[in-house]
Amino acid sequence: MGQTTRKIQVRDLAIGGGAPVSVQSMCATHTQDIDATVRQAELLRKAGADLVRIAVDNPKDVQALAQVRKQTKARLVVDLQENFKLAEIVAPHVDKIRYNPGHLHHLDKHRSIEEKIAWVVAIARQNGCAIRIGVNCGSVAPDFLERYKGDHVKAIVESAAWHCGLLDDLKFTNYVVSLKDSDPSKVVTCNKEFSKRRPDVPIHLGVTEAGLPPDGIIKTRIAFEQLIPFGIGDTMRVSLTVPFENKDEEIKAGRQILEDIKNKRFVSVPDFGKGLNIISCPSCSRVENGDFVKLATDVKQMTAYAKEHKLTIAVMGCRVNGPGETDDADLGLWCGPSTVTLKRKSETLGTYGYMEVLAVLRQRLDELINQPSQHL
Ligand code: SF4
Repeated sequence: MGQTTRKIQVRDLAIGGGAPVSVQSMCATHTQDIDATVRQAELLRKAGADLVRIAVDNPKDVQALAQVRKQTKARLVVDLQENFKLAEIVAPHVDKIRYNPGHLHHLDKHRSIEEKIAWVVAIARQNGCAIRIGVNCGSVAPDFLERYKGDHVKAIVESAAWHCGLLDDLKFTNYVVSLKDSDPSKVVTCNKEFSKRRPDVPIHLGVTEAGLPPDGIIKTRIAFEQLIPFGIGDTMRVSLTVPFENKDEEIKAGRQILEDIKNKRFVSVPDFGKGLNIISCPSCSRVENGDFVKLATDVKQMTAYAKEHKLTIAVMGCRVNGPGETDDADLGLWCGPSTVTLKRKSETLGTYGYMEVLAVLRQRLDELINQPSQHL
């Protein structure tokens, strides 16, 4: 598996070049709760996580990260999210940093993307960090969306390939690429296209916002089974909406998928995803109300009556990414500290208490089902 890619190094972990496919997960605790984050990192490591991601949004999170680093043996990775400038203070405490090409334009608008990447790469090099270029369907770089209008897959693949070129020019080769989407078939297409373009670059696989188990695991399997047996994919994450104390389910699911693929035990679910599709994020330190996972579970149960209808409902855990990540859903919910905002595509329908939003969702779902097209 993955023999054609080059081998990269994340501390003592090899990714690519024929190394076993590694499995990753992410802490869903509040990063500044150092004890809880250490416990979570260790839970994941002991379950077999080769790499553990920690969310960092601000300098206080970085101070906590530095403490967590001292108390866990897990290899650590941080996502720079919208703030690439955190790289400088984050890199001394981690083994890998991830940047999203779609978030680089937010800060320092006077600096070119090339300059920003040269700066991030210099920091990664000084600190012995690997890099993940992480392209996400929900936040593709605006210039690539503009250039490949209407062809989202092309925009994702070209953005990733262009960034590989930047790192190559800087003679930095210790990187992987991810091309994630919540739709398994798009994950397959993007990764196949990318691996044709850059067969040398190790790939991190993932279906983003796959949702609650078992559906989230099935969606992920559908994508991975079409990639890993063909040598595409060197490391992976299974993103599941589960309570934070059960986060090790992501690792167990990932290991099981790898074991099954090795033994040629494939799931065949031809009708899966043809009807109601519920996507939900795996949660992270940005979740401000612990009822998010329960809400996602309740939404799944309440909407079971509509399972034949070809509609997408998105449930997102925070007010940072929630508003954007629900834009494409027929009905979307994003969770704030004490309220949930309900949307239809990009239109906000209202903001409700956690206890009352389900009834309103049901009403809105019925309206969509009873429309003439019926989404069947
Ligand atoms: S939507 Fe928010 S809470 Fe959910 S994983 Fe993304 S950043 Fe974290």
